[in-house]
Amino acid sequence: MYVDIAIVGGGIAGLSVAMELSKYNIDVAVIEKNNDVGLETTSTNHNLICQGADSLSFRPGTLHAELNIKSIPLWPKLSKNLNFKFKRIGGIWLIRDKVDYQKFLKLKSRSFKQSTKPDAPYYIPKEDFTPVEFIDRKTVLDMEPYINKDILGALYDPNLATVDPKEVAKAYAENANYNGVKFLLNTEVKMIRREGIGFSIETNNGNIKASFVINAAGINIDRIADFVKAKNFSYVPLKGTITDFDEEIGKMINHEVHVLPRNEAPNMVTALPTIHGNFRSGIYMELTYRSNNEVTKYAVDYNINVAKKLFPDINFENHIIKSFTGFMAYTNPDTGWHDFVIDIPEYVPNWINILLGPAGVSASPMIGKYVVELIKNTGFKIEEKSNYSPTGRKVIS
Ligand SMILES: Cc1cc2nc3c(=O)[nH]c(=O)nc-3n(C[C@H](O)[C@H](O)[C@H](O)COP(=O)(O)OP(=O)(O)OC[C@H]3O[C@@H](n4cnc5c(N)ncnc54)[C@H](O)[C@@H]3O)c2cc1C
Repeated sequence: MYVDIAIVGGGIAGLSVAMELSKYNIDVAVIEKNNDVGLETTSTNHNLICQGADSLSFRPGTLHAELNIKSIPLWPKLSKNLNFKFKRIGGIWLIRDKVDYQKFLKLKSRSFKQSTKPDAPYYIPKEDFTPVEFIDRKTVLDMEPYINKDILGALYDPNLATVDPKEVAKAYAENANYNGVKFLLNTEVKMIRREGIGFSIETNNGNIKASFVINAAGINIDRIADFVKAKNFSYVPLKGTITDFDEEIGKMINHEVHVLPRNEAPNMVTALPTIHGNFRSGIYMELTYRSNNEVTKYAVDYNINVAKKLFPDINFENHIIKSFTGFMAYTNPDTGWHDFVIDIPEYVPNWINILLGPAGVSASPMIGKYVVELIKNTGFKIEEKSNYSPTGRKVIS
């Protein structure tokens, strides 16, 4: 088989690219080792779509911040066009003392004001979000009756949203498929060789030749890049354990709630109702080898304690449904400032690596658009289709 562009990996990154490329008159194939799309990190995460205070607090100047912030206004339209659920639950960031307050004050003034000014680097039109505000203790307790009462107030972000990322992945894939992208499921890339300026891709289902390769293999990105010496990044696999509770708990809590981690860092102290009506808490984080997806008792206990710390009067132990792990590719664990890597390695033209980490689902509406611009800048000829449908979906099989 020959295609103009082969995308290795049917996670949210590869699928966002597939959907964008389906607007052009070129042959594109997504190669995915699993029997469906979105089954790896895309479906083992916290399900939050950063829409306000969180995205705007990402380090200015990073691609991570740029793609997340530019994605903010795109989410509601995508959800409408592709018919997937997108719910604004809002985020309550608890203030326990003066230290929390000062941190949030700095964050609020630094990021929000900058981004809402028309000359801001990542300007967000005012109609695309509601301003973040400080709320007092009484308002927090009115909004979340079961919340820890030992607080002064909170920073409230009404924009924060949740989705089912697997459902979003499916929607991107089906739209790409409708518009002509091929999907090769149960197809694992075993080797890639350079052939002239193109590539020969060996899989368990035969060979594919491609002029351009998008490496969107999640935490396997290094293995795929190594085949053609295209590794222009380094990362550590960061494992997160998350615990889900049943609908009885989901009914009692309305917002995402978190506190800034202190002794708990690098773990997170955050919990939210999911789009399916359950409740989720975590995240216990560890640096470990990538095949270690064991759910430990220690991690589950940590997550139960997070839920109890935020909502002390609820009995969580009898409502656990499941705990699971997910891996993100983290580029800078020393400083805590992470950035995406989405670029063309210097010595391997016609190749793009996509390394996400935290908030990759949130940034997904922009990832494909960014990659298409990179492709165009190489001089690779792509022409827009006249019959592209932004709403069409065709089941992949
Ligand atoms: C614990 C945790 C919590 C998170 N919370 C959030 C959150 O709340 N909000 C948010 O926006 N982001 C969150 N993230 C980050 C987000 O999940 C990731 O940024 C995103 O899912 C990465 O997507 P991806 O497509 O790069 O990787 P993946 O989803 O892993 O996709 C890679 C795909 O490549 C395929 N593949 C790999 N090797 C091969 C091969 N050899 N041949 C064929 N196919 C191959 C895999 O099967 C997989 O389907 C979280 C991550 C974790 C771990």
